[in-house]
Amino acid sequence: MNTIAVIGAGTMGNGIAHVFAQSGFKVNLVDISQPSLEKGLATITKNLDRMVAKEKIGEAEKNQTLAHIHTHTNLAEGVKAVDLVVEAATENLDIKLKIFKELDSVCDVQTILATNTSSISITQIGAVTKRPDKVIGMHFMNPVPIMKLVEIIRGYSTSDEVTQTIMELSKKLGKTPTEVNDYPGFVANRILMPMLNEAIETLYNGVAGVHEIDTVMKLGMAHPMGPLQLADFIGLDVCLSILNVMYDGFKNPKYAPCPLLVNMVMAGKLGVKSGEGFYDYTESRKAEKVSKQFS
Ligand code: NAD
Repeated sequence: MNTIAVIGAGTMGNGIAHVFAQSGFKVNLVDISQPSLEKGLATITKNLDRMVAKEKIGEAEKNQTLAHIHTHTNLAEGVKAVDLVVEAATENLDIKLKIFKELDSVCDVQTILATNTSSISITQIGAVTKRPDKVIGMHFMNPVPIMKLVEIIRGYSTSDEVTQTIMELSKKLGKTPTEVNDYPGFVANRILMPMLNEAIETLYNGVAGVHEIDTVMKLGMAHPMGPLQLADFIGLDVCLSILNVMYDGFKNPKYAPCPLLVNMVMAGKLGVKSGEGFYDYTESRKAEKVSKQFS
């Protein structure tokens, strides 16, 4: 396996392109939006610069990694003659089904089609292709260059051979692949999301404030980040969509998203990416924090 296409240059796509390129693969990074491609490349460059500054890699490795990445806005061009596609576009069923139908029609018959979806059924995605045995979940964690886990999700029809290939490939990236089956939320989000939702419910019920809830979990349970801060980091819209997939998939009220989460998403308070969620990330607030440090 030499050439990989990554579809989507957002939060996850640029991280996935980064780790493949740094491991010596030729990467075609594809996005419908040129500004997203530019932002993605800028993020990869910034992250590599940070690694150089920390003396984890040299300038030559940084330049080599960047030279491995080529950007495309045309899907058919970007996936031409690739061995593997890792789709990391927006978490939306219709968007993913459309992308996989197109991938199936334009990719070589032996190309493996992986998705980084957080919650959407691999089986359902595979079913819109003529190669469901070659469709698999490759769920990287955020931030991709740092987090070790890749949750490998076998759809109902995914073959043993393809699963083995993707397990081995993940190891070549320096990751620890872990194989799971295809049920709503898989393993990572089935366990994480109810905890985040319960933290939001605790706030909604007035049991404690944002800082208090996060402090209890950070200092009491040794979590590196409190659940409300983590929800902001993941994106409240992403959390809501994963909870809805589990709620619909299991028909169990325990996965019902907290009304406060629903309201915040409707109000456009999506966490870090929108500048405000449970915490404030706006420029003015950052400036206020910096000026406090010097006062
Ligand atoms: P994002 O919103 O940051 O980026 C999505 C990108 O996809 C955008 O740049 C958008 O322009 C592009 N896109 C949309 N439609 C496209 C199309 N048809 N063709 C090509 N590009 C298209 O999203 P993200 O947070 O990077 O999430 C991507 C995937 O990774 C989702 O499936 C999500 O569930 C999953 N995921 C996210 C996280 C996280 O912490 N954010 C963690 C693990 C997995």
